[in-house]
Amino acid sequence: MEPNTVDITIVGAGVVGLAVAHYASSLTDNLVVIEREPGPGHGISSRNSEVIHAGIYYPPDFLKAQLCVKGNNLLYEFCERYHIPYKKIGKVVVGINDEEVKGIEALFERGKQNGVQGLRLVSSRELKKIEPHIEGIFALYCPNTGIIDSHQLIKTLEGLSLEKGSQIIYNTTLVGVEKTPKGFLCKVKNPDGSIYTFISRIVINSAGLTSDQIANMAGINIEDAGYKIYPCKGEYFCVRGGNHRLVKGLIYPSPLARLTGLGIHTTKDMAGTLKLGPNTIYTDKIEYTIEVTHAKEFLLAIKPILPFIKEEDIVPDMAGIRPKIQGPNDPIKDFVIAHETKKGLDGMINLIGIESPGLTACLAIGQMVKGLIKDSGLL
Ligand SMILES: Cc1cc2nc3c(=O)[nH]c(=O)nc-3n(C[C@H](O)[C@H](O)[C@H](O)COP(=O)(O)OP(=O)(O)OC[C@H]3O[C@@H](n4cnc5c(N)ncnc54)[C@H](O)[C@@H]3O)c2cc1C
Repeated sequence: MEPNTVDITIVGAGVVGLAVAHYASSLTDNLVVIEREPGPGHGISSRNSEVIHAGIYYPPDFLKAQLCVKGNNLLYEFCERYHIPYKKIGKVVVGINDEEVKGIEALFERGKQNGVQGLRLVSSRELKKIEPHIEGIFALYCPNTGIIDSHQLIKTLEGLSLEKGSQIIYNTTLVGVEKTPKGFLCKVKNPDGSIYTFISRIVINSAGLTSDQIANMAGINIEDAGYKIYPCKGEYFCVRGGNHRLVKGLIYPSPLARLTGLGIHTTKDMAGTLKLGPNTIYTDKIEYTIEVTHAKEFLLAIKPILPFIKEEDIVPDMAGIRPKIQGPNDPIKDFVIAHETKKGLDGMINLIGIESPGLTACLAIGQMVKGLIKDSGLL
């Protein structure tokens, strides 16, 4: 008997896979999302800073810059339309010495090149008006940065995709994908351990931390392609006591060399909780414990800007893991969003290395992938 055929299979019901489902579901009513967890957004999407970034950090030719700037606008509009809680609280990138001032001026120029609106360089006096309690000699003010309830965003994308007729199958893991003349033979493991196979004309690999393994299953040499993922953990500490009220918006240091992360910064969630983080720790293990002794490193990092936060104020909060394709000594790398025709895999679209600003960019990524599907002529 011929296996069942679907038009589009999306692997992963994180914020990116669901955003792709939301847009691609207007192309067919035969779309399925496969997710190994019991619900949506249990992966990277539920362990991050929940910041709607403006798009100042990456070079203009990077998808990370283009999709962040576009995604920022799309996300604010989407939040308004579907009543997803968000706040445009703004951000300052603060310099504490002359060298950092240069870095911040460069960031300002890059932000302008990327088309970010409203950026302003501010003196220490102006900085005091924006954030009266923090220290710094110079800053970049970025009013377009905000925070979002990412869980509501994920639930909304899930609901919209289901309304349009997509199927989302939880507790089910993709364990094989093989190109055949009729499409991709997909093998999934059901919750009872049984294996089910079907053909999919198009496969979209949006599997976050295991997206390299899915590409590998399809026959791609992930080392040669630059698709190997180097998981990179980020821990957060939460600020207790009354001092959290002394910070209004988001406060970032001058960025780290090679942008392995944006530097330990403050974030606020929608409930008003002030957090510090994330640090950057390359790791082999996918586990989310927080090393309490790292509190010292956090305090040291923030002390020049937020001297009023004391050791007794901070407690471990949570951790997330970045799906980096940038290894520990590599230069910065862009998102991979590729229709793999050149690799002989017509119909396979890989989304790999979707680290920050992937949450901000999710809708722009969804639109881009819909465009790739349309251009493929496979539906
Ligand atoms: C510490 C940290 C801070 C961040 N802060 C921000 C921020 O402030 N702003 C921002 O814009 N971005 C931020 N990001 C990035 C953002 O969180 C991610 O880009 C985004 O969540 C990625 O979503 P995703 O859907 O690609 O991955 P995921 O949410 O991980 O979804 C992938 C899904 O695939 C499933 N899956 C994997 N393998 C299989 C399989 N074989 N079969 C079936 N299902 C499978 C997983 O279970 C998972 O649910 C941050 C990331 C981290 C780690």
